[in-house]
Amino acid sequence: MLRTVRVALPIPVVKEYTYELPGALEASVNIGSLVLVPVRTRVYTAIVTELDVEVRPEVNLRRVRAVVSDEPVVNTELLALTHWIARYYLCAWGEALQAALPAGMQTKEKVTFYLASESPADWVNISARLYAHMVKHRKATPARLKRVGLRISDDELTKAEKQGVLRRAVELVNPKVRAKMGKFISLAHAFRTTTALRDLLPQLRGTKQKAIIQELIRCVESGQIEPPLADVQQNCNAGPQTVRTLEQRGIISIIEKRVFRIPEWMRLADVSPSKAPVFHTSQAKAVEALREAVEAQEYHTFVLHGVTGSGKTEVYLAALEKTFALKQSAIVLVPEIALTPQTVQRFRSRFGNTVAVLHSRMAQGERYDVWEQIRAGRYRVVIGPRSAILAPIQNLGLIIVDEEHDGSYKQMDPAPRYHARDVAVMRARMRQAVCILGSATPSLESLANVKQGKYTLLTMPDRVPTKERPSAALPSIRVIDLCEERDKNDLHSALSTPLIQAIGSRLERKEQVILLQNRRGFAPIFECQNCGFVPQCIACSVSMTYHQVKQQLKCHYCGFVRNPLVSCPKCDAAAFAPLGSGTQRVSQELSELFSDAQILRMDRDSTQGKDAHHEILKAFADNQADILIGTQMVAKGLDFGRVTLVGVINCDIGLRLPDFRSEERTFQLLMQVAGRAGRADLPGEVLLQTRRPKHPIFSFLQEHDFDGYAQDLMKERETLGYPPFGRIMGVQVRGAPKRKVERLAGKWRELLLEQLPSTVSILGPEQPYIERVEHQYRYFLVIKAPKTYRNLHEDVRTAIKMAPSSIPNLHVSINVDALEQV
Ligand code: ADP
Ligand code: ZN
Repeated sequence: MLRTVRVALPIPVVKEYTYELPGALEASVNIGSLVLVPVRTRVYTAIVTELDVEVRPEVNLRRVRAVVSDEPVVNTELLALTHWIARYYLCAWGEALQAALPAGMQTKEKVTFYLASESPADWVNISARLYAHMVKHRKATPARLKRVGLRISDDELTKAEKQGVLRRAVELVNPKVRAKMGKFISLAHAFRTTTALRDLLPQLRGTKQKAIIQELIRCVESGQIEPPLADVQQNCNAGPQTVRTLEQRGIISIIEKRVFRIPEWMRLADVSPSKAPVFHTSQAKAVEALREAVEAQEYHTFVLHGVTGSGKTEVYLAALEKTFALKQSAIVLVPEIALTPQTVQRFRSRFGNTVAVLHSRMAQGERYDVWEQIRAGRYRVVIGPRSAILAPIQNLGLIIVDEEHDGSYKQMDPAPRYHARDVAVMRARMRQAVCILGSATPSLESLANVKQGKYTLLTMPDRVPTKERPSAALPSIRVIDLCEERDKNDLHSALSTPLIQAIGSRLERKEQVILLQNRRGFAPIFECQNCGFVPQCIACSVSMTYHQVKQQLKCHYCGFVRNPLVSCPKCDAAAFAPLGSGTQRVSQELSELFSDAQILRMDRDSTQGKDAHHEILKAFADNQADILIGTQMVAKGLDFGRVTLVGVINCDIGLRLPDFRSEERTFQLLMQVAGRAGRADLPGEVLLQTRRPKHPIFSFLQEHDFDGYAQDLMKERETLGYPPFGRIMGVQVRGAPKRKVERLAGKWRELLLEQLPSTVSILGPEQPYIERVEHQYRYFLVIKAPKTYRNLHEDVRTAIKMAPSSIPNLHVSINVDALEQV
């Protein structure tokens, strides 16, 4: 009988492909196995999704080339979940599966083209520039062609191949990450006891040999039967010759075993254990409800709305404890930048080394090994950013999404463009597990689900009470009108007089200050003071940002760097000066004003190193600094008892962006950062600097009235038909030249109009505020549909099928539930 497999490919094709399974591979292929398969002229790593599918006898199947991993890399639970992701987020199943695997597992292919005919007559209808290049260099890779600026499409290359003027050679490159093997010493049977080893000692002559046996005795005593060879050699200062002698005498043998690259800190339980506190009233209620739900082992989603400092983490820990008691495991999602060692420590001090952490700063090999150990059931809980929702943990009973409103849970590029919070709810549903969505500022989406009775709301309206303050107060919030300040004091600096005074008084009292400036660099813009000219990036239509330390202008979109201009290309004046205030500029100003103060800066530039982030926070926690200034990195999840003042340099940046969510996001950010003040016994104060003090957002903030603000926003969204009352899907067309991008976007508009009913509106095609990034033009369409329209996904899927198949240098991507409108 012909054996067949169906596979999902990691490329944007919506269907799955079927292949013949050669007899030699039969035994090692299962559902979930990784295999190599040919598609047209290429080879891909694909995942087996089905065995023995029926095919019509006349169909000529291609064969599976090889098996990459016989053990399934995904289980049926993840197969089902990724299948749902592919259907809902309108991408290929293979793309969704890819997101569930650690990076670097695919076998890549390297394609090289060789010149097969030099005769110009054979090269008719093929790019003359390609011909010239090939005749000169004889061979080329597609990447090479791109680097030298030859834009040759895949189709063109295939045509050249068919015409016989080029020959394609494909070479498979092994996966970047693979299991690491190590050498270990294994004692022969007769010598596995310390007595036998001691008896052996007098019979040995060499001191090095004796030293090794002594070392092995120590190992056996401590229960280590097969110690790593390298460790033993190093401890005894013995060379390979001594080891070989012992091996030849039949005392030991050297064996190879897999070693797992688990980071040291994850292996050791060197943290001081912590115990659950006595819960305060609303906390106890939340814990009670969650314990009951976990016990019931049925699907249930909760929204835990607790103000900053209300003790949400303790609630999570209690729910986790219950889950583990039932022999189930859990996933905890946190926004990437909140995944600090401080956060991880709180979980580890309760649950020790049963806590696995996955994050992007880990080395690829480490992530691969931790992932494998999670799959093997070594851990009870996985903590990580959005991709951890696809961790292969077994027996899942609980999923926690901390700061569930956070935008970093939505993946932008590449596909799958999923929202990890929504995937979490789905995974919990499929597993009959409990899901907790925690936040001080829950998303309107989650609140709407509460209102509809889909989720259960748990609230903690007060901060954790302390002895000094039986009802711990939220910080008081002052709004500073920058226009008024400027008129009064001729304000040149980024810091107003009230803020400078407030900082000064904290420094005197030896308290700490956090300042938020959501913009890195010295000054965002380098402007000609004479004519107003601002240098732009050559590849992106954005202004360059001035970085003072390196004295450079840098594009924050593509990373392009150039020296600051001296004279203006427009008016010739030598009058360039930095405008506005990035984090660097503010920290310089601060050190001029407060020369004795220790200042730490935390932004993307100062946290480049692997542990830089951790070191800055640790220094601040250890009271080595008085002021921490940074971008939104300083707003999330930090818990420092001595911080009594939080200042926001400019609240207006977020209020000016042309997006319907930017105001909500600004509110959340300001509430978050305000929550850093006065968390312990000392009362906190927050100063917000703005040029628009009348904006309604400020009175809600001052009253700590999140519910009121949410109600206001909810009304506005309902009127406009925006989420959570409607659905938004973005269609982006990207590429070059501009004319072609525009035309394809227009074509998509027509297609969508044909497929969708008139209740669904289609906005655009429009160009975004930033027209061009990395030489690519972008056009957007926005599909806005009422929530009640059920066929939206189906219709858009039809449009995808009808759309012109891939066109060289043009890319179309669909973003379901897009967070940004453009
Ligand atoms: P949130 O995550 O809601 O901002 P945290 O969980 O960080 O709040 O709690 C704030 C602080 O209060 C932490 O230092 C935590 O250890 C402490 N804490 C939480 N619950 C209690 C409690 N019931 N009694 C005493 N301290 C608590
Ligand atoms: Zn650029």
